[in-house]
Amino acid sequence: MKILNGIAGAPGVVFGDVLYFNKKIGCSKKMSIDEAVEKSLEKVRKMYDKALSDLGEDKAKIFSAYEMLLEDEMFIGPIKEMIEAGSAPEDAVTEVSESMSAILLKKENEYLRQRADDIRNVGNMIKETLCGADSDFVFPEGNDKYIIAAQELTPVDTMLFDHSRLLGFATKEGGATSHTVILAKSIGIPAVVGVPDLDGTVDLKRAYLDGYSGKFVVEPDEETKKIYDKKVIEEQEFIKSLETIKQNDAYTKDGERIKVAINIGKPSDLNGIENQKFDGVGLFRSEFLYSSSKEKPSVNQQYEAYKKVLDSVYPESVTIRTLDVGGDKQIEYFNVPKEENPFLGNRGIRLCLSNESIFMEQLKALLMAGADKKLKIMLPMVTRIEEITRTRELMEKAKKELELEGVAVSEDMELGIMIETPASAIMSEVFAKYCDFFSIGTNDLVQYIMSADRGNSAVENIYNPYNPAVLRMLNKVINDGAKAGIEVSVCGDLAANADFTEILLGMGLKKFSVPLPMINRIKKKISDINLSSAQELVKEVLSAEDENEVIKIIRKG
Ligand code: PEP
Ligand code: MG
Repeated sequence: MKILNGIAGAPGVVFGDVLYFNKKIGCSKKMSIDEAVEKSLEKVRKMYDKALSDLGEDKAKIFSAYEMLLEDEMFIGPIKEMIEAGSAPEDAVTEVSESMSAILLKKENEYLRQRADDIRNVGNMIKETLCGADSDFVFPEGNDKYIIAAQELTPVDTMLFDHSRLLGFATKEGGATSHTVILAKSIGIPAVVGVPDLDGTVDLKRAYLDGYSGKFVVEPDEETKKIYDKKVIEEQEFIKSLETIKQNDAYTKDGERIKVAINIGKPSDLNGIENQKFDGVGLFRSEFLYSSSKEKPSVNQQYEAYKKVLDSVYPESVTIRTLDVGGDKQIEYFNVPKEENPFLGNRGIRLCLSNESIFMEQLKALLMAGADKKLKIMLPMVTRIEEITRTRELMEKAKKELELEGVAVSEDMELGIMIETPASAIMSEVFAKYCDFFSIGTNDLVQYIMSADRGNSAVENIYNPYNPAVLRMLNKVINDGAKAGIEVSVCGDLAANADFTEILLGMGLKKFSVPLPMINRIKKKISDINLSSAQELVKEVLSAEDENEVIKIIRKG
């Protein structure tokens, strides 16, 4: 028996056979460094699109970081210089990526250490492209699931596995915020990372993987088996309790009905969820239609995609968010010049309103798809009332044009906004008069309140949802919405963060919208909460002075 200790990454306890993922970099192909960088860029962009549609924007950002590195002269320049001075290309890539990452690994700062992983991963990717990489890895025949162990799993490797055959991940490298962990969480499997003693000898052995304690127990003895079998059973019971929750509506302990909807990125996200009870789709990000091909999607293509979702969820409602691109995610046919500060630039509703003909096409597709269904149209990045009133005018125009063509349109669709900018949050009392509903986009709201980029780990201690400034803003919006009698939901990541369930309920939130892998955990959490104690908790956290105090209050409960 070997008990390998690592870092608890993603939660869960599983037992199964281990497959060791071994990737050897050969040197059979020959390619210039420019070509290898170009091909790696293509690969990374494809992975971005796959992650965007399978796992959402935040996970896809891992690949934008790789893209930036591949385009960074500070990284690629020294490699080229070494090659010009006579080094073999693969040696130059190893030398530069290893030395740059070694410098970063010595830093105290977690963000910089994380960048060391990125540099090594990107270096390996270039070498694989330069020289050819052999991974003899294939899943054995059948449908059995396996624990994948590896020295390191790049996000590309992780994305390429058949997710239905995965029990969990164990890796020698990586930290608690590594990309393997982020991706494991979104797939819904446990992960243990940073296991120093992990090597290929675990291949084909039986093992327990405990994502709560960070232990990887290989070839357990009888004594240990007993302990871990108990943990696996407890985990299975927890998962089973989620099975009951899965088939029921969500209620708090004291009987208040709370809606829990799901977030999706494309129609196929709804495949296989027949037995899952959920309160409709609270956020359908429509970007995939625009970013999955070079061409602008036709009205008909959009109509088909929206209708598929509206039909399959009916009689529940579907909240479709109009196109939210621009800034850091460019789409060629929008012709947005490169911006100094893209997160404060021409994105979301601003971009749509400055490209009205493209926006009109989306509105038409939405209005057509919503005929006789429950459609809610949601605008992203709203900062001014004018953006809502102008959209309403365009919607009326689109409706009239369609009616003249004899096309049936939605008569009772609702129009609402994401509350994800400080302007809309501060003015939520006024905005409520112009909207049928609010959905709070905490991912962006936190970044704009705290003035800290949501994708930049150098400021991740500042991008902190526990900060009282965020909590006060959430409380204000939820209360303003309730006073105006409109529906308020949260569709950003905070809705799926169990630390915030009680606070949000205590503030009066009646609807959560979360990624599918999280829905039953959140429904279970809701069922364990009493509204009266949740309200007490809110009073306490709202009087806290900083995030540490908030965390202390939450954790003591
Ligand atoms: C948000 O900002 O919280 C949100 C849900 O939108 P996105 O993550 O797509 O920006
Ligand atoms: Mg957002």
